[in-house]
Amino acid sequence: MEKYKRFFANKIEDFLVIDGEEFRHAVNVLRIRENDKIILLDNTGYEYLAEVTKIEKKSMQVKVLSKEKNDLESKNDILLIAGYLKGDKTELVVQKAVELGVKDIVVFSSKFSSAFLNDNKLERLNKVSQEASKQCGRSIYPKVSYLPFEEAIKYAKDYKNKLFACEFANENQVDFSSLNGNTALVVGSEGGFSEDEFIFATKEGFSTVSLGKRILRADTASIVLVGIVAKMLGDLE
Ligand code: SAH
Repeated sequence: MEKYKRFFANKIEDFLVIDGEEFRHAVNVLRIRENDKIILLDNTGYEYLAEVTKIEKKSMQVKVLSKEKNDLESKNDILLIAGYLKGDKTELVVQKAVELGVKDIVVFSSKFSSAFLNDNKLERLNKVSQEASKQCGRSIYPKVSYLPFEEAIKYAKDYKNKLFACEFANENQVDFSSLNGNTALVVGSEGGFSEDEFIFATKEGFSTVSLGKRILRADTASIVLVGIVAKMLGDLE
């Protein structure tokens, strides 16, 4: 679909009203006006070409013109499970992971975590995911959820490939060149992993991945690992 501005809406019908934050962003920031065309997204993988028919003080009326399937989603799902980071580093990781096509994101706290998530921060991460998804032309956005370490590891149980980026691993058990199918990735926070956490993940079926002899920052490690895996799964062609 053409490059019109993109907005998420909860339920898309032939005629609908957009209000709240998406309305304010559309009118105050993106300067959407009556008769402009926009694209509506409902997180189902479809996108809808629509026309703004009326702008009011706190909402706008929109008429849907056509519907089409968005084909930017990768064939294989990537799940990123990443330690929650200090400052706004997790926002960066979420933004880049969404651009690189990740399907699902879990942030966790673990033994050596030094940053802690709250509801507001989690909401902010979901907003970042939504914005990144719109910006890169996707029509769904990965939900970002929070789980403690062990639950986060178990969350990956149905994934074919389970990769654990371990800064103290001296062997790499994963042959990236033959990777295919749904893939879950685990990357630690600034403090890294404890031996017990490493053993737990191994028992849950994770293979160890080394990203080289240098210790990467946690945000670098997440972004580069998602990039490598997306490439190997054929999603960056
Ligand atoms: N505090 C730790 C480093 C943590 S790096 C230390 O001083 O040793 C943060 C996370 O990035 C790690 O938990 C791991 O998941 C990933 N990471 C960084 N460098 C890596 C490497 N060379 N190989 C594999 N994973 C790495």
